[in-house]
Amino acid sequence: PPGNATDGPYTYACREEDIAPGCRVRVPFARGNRLVDGYVIAVGDQPPEGMRNIKEVVQVDADVRLTEEELETALWMRGRTLCRYIEAIKMFVPDEEKVLGKTKDPFAGFEVSSSVPEQLTGEQERAFKEISEPLDRREHKVFLLFGVTGSGKTEIYLQAMQKVLDQGRQGIVMVPEIALTPQVIRRFMDRFGKEKVAVIHSRLTRKQRVVEYDKIRSGQAPVVIGARSAVFAPLKEIGLIVLDESHETSYKSDQSPKYDTLEVAVKRAMAHGAVVVAGSATPSLADYYRSEKDIFTRLSLTERFNETPMPQVHIADMRQELRLGNRSIFSQALADGIAESLAKNKQIILFLNRRGYASFVSCRECGHVVRCGECGISMPYHKDQNACVCHYCGRKEPLPEQCPACGGQTIRSFGAGTQQVEEKVLELFPDARVQRLDLDSVRKKGSMESILSGFEKHKTDILIGTQLVAKGLDVANVGLVGIVSADVTLNIPDFRSAERTFQLVTQAAGRSGRGDEVGQVVIQTYTPEHEAIRCAARHDYTAFYKGEIRLREQIQYPPFCDLFQLILSDGEEEKASALAERCARWLKRKAGKELTVMGPSPAPLSKADGAYRYQVLIKSPEGQRRSTSEMLLQLKRLYTSEKEATSLLTMDVNPYSFM
Ligand SMILES: [Zn+2]
Ligand SMILES: [Zn+2]
Repeated sequence: PPGNATDGPYTYACREEDIAPGCRVRVPFARGNRLVDGYVIAVGDQPPEGMRNIKEVVQVDADVRLTEEELETALWMRGRTLCRYIEAIKMFVPDEEKVLGKTKDPFAGFEVSSSVPEQLTGEQERAFKEISEPLDRREHKVFLLFGVTGSGKTEIYLQAMQKVLDQGRQGIVMVPEIALTPQVIRRFMDRFGKEKVAVIHSRLTRKQRVVEYDKIRSGQAPVVIGARSAVFAPLKEIGLIVLDESHETSYKSDQSPKYDTLEVAVKRAMAHGAVVVAGSATPSLADYYRSEKDIFTRLSLTERFNETPMPQVHIADMRQELRLGNRSIFSQALADGIAESLAKNKQIILFLNRRGYASFVSCRECGHVVRCGECGISMPYHKDQNACVCHYCGRKEPLPEQCPACGGQTIRSFGAGTQQVEEKVLELFPDARVQRLDLDSVRKKGSMESILSGFEKHKTDILIGTQLVAKGLDVANVGLVGIVSADVTLNIPDFRSAERTFQLVTQAAGRSGRGDEVGQVVIQTYTPEHEAIRCAARHDYTAFYKGEIRLREQIQYPPFCDLFQLILSDGEEEKASALAERCARWLKRKAGKELTVMGPSPAPLSKADGAYRYQVLIKSPEGQRRSTSEMLLQLKRLYTSEKEATSLLTMDVNPYSFM
């Protein structure tokens, strides 16, 4: 039933024979006996001892029933992500309602041709063979398909899927929401036939969603393509689950249940005897670590499919530019590169980071960044507190008047928006056709598609965008990719900032030179010596991994521990901060020596939707996730049972963004 206080199982009697765990039922609830929907978690012959006055189930809903595996996964997810029962169960039965009348097919008028399996290269063939073995034996196994951009991972997914369909089983392919373009969907429809493919993503209307789910349940569509929620597709016998671009942060849900899609995929695949393939050119450090420990089996693809050489990467040292008197946001190299590409009629992508990150403090002369000595993350400047603040441990320091490293005077907070870059581009290249692609410009429905297709048709010369440009854009005519400031990602207050920078630069570089010519990449930075940038420029994942995983182990960050985030928010700042203080004290007392409690501190996104947000972080050593979870659930129960519980208390395990 709804409401935080009512999250738990209740006991009812039922006369119907046809009741089983997973059924949806209507039951009278609470003192008023109003009728509500509930789901059966367990069925027994005898009432629990000492329980009297048991109410009766009013109706068993014949249409909605979770399978044993689905219910088990939901219950597991509740413990894993600290969500409520109903939130976990609802993932398998979204928006269940009868569809009246005819629903417009979202793919009506969608041109589909037919395609046959392509000849695999030697590398692809080897990877496919490895994946085929457990598929043939219907055994569970997890693969990390580590392949450079353009190495032909999709063809491997397609052929593995064909194998599964030939066995009479079904499969799921997930891509990040932003990359779920018509081209990607069409590729699967071309191979398996339009009617055999169901598509699930958040832009579907409610009715369309029900239609797609019906196609899956009835067995009409054995192939499901979608964003992360497709992992819950109610297929009868799953043979294969693919996560493409598995490093993408959108695979971690940011709403309750805050599940990790790969974890759910593995959990379901174990029950079905299915294979999971996580494909990426830049696997998350945690996944690569698992492949080193043989928890996942790693398969490598090192050649680009059509043997296009990797792009040439130039690192522009912005400190040097300043010394030479260039105060513009463009280095000489980037400005020259743009001019050259325009002259050759090649297209250009300029990358910028998302706005809204608290900006970090850095020295323009030497690149020094103000960081917390304890936690290793950058300390952004907060105007209202007139101090640099660590978002992990709460430490505060005054804004330095001069650079502690070089004594330079130009130390200040940092950041430029897409609009600023656009103005500058137009100033330098007034004839260029420029288009912005950021959260503001794509808010209108369909505008992202039209901006992207305009770029694909070369109606735009220069596309300026935030990270989202990196995904799904595959334009052969791109001659230059410019990363306006690699430092912004490098200094987000998150222990994964180096990993994210490496991924961003590598993925961005992958957009350049996808035709037959070598692409150019210019990375602008104040810290050209940083490993993430140097390794990305050399396309050397392994070197980056080796250095970064050592650091993680030293400071004890995931994958060497689980990081729990507790967010306390309230319309009144004093209330949020006082509650955070109380929670931190309670946790420190309760935690003992094993756990590290950090904070309280203002959350990186310290104010959202009119509420002030404070956070407490808990480092929980390997193997203690369960006991730490229980402790946090106890804390939540204690707080919500208080009379004056007006603040919101939310939890996340190993959050992706710390926003
Ligand atoms: Zn300096
Ligand atoms: Zn700190």
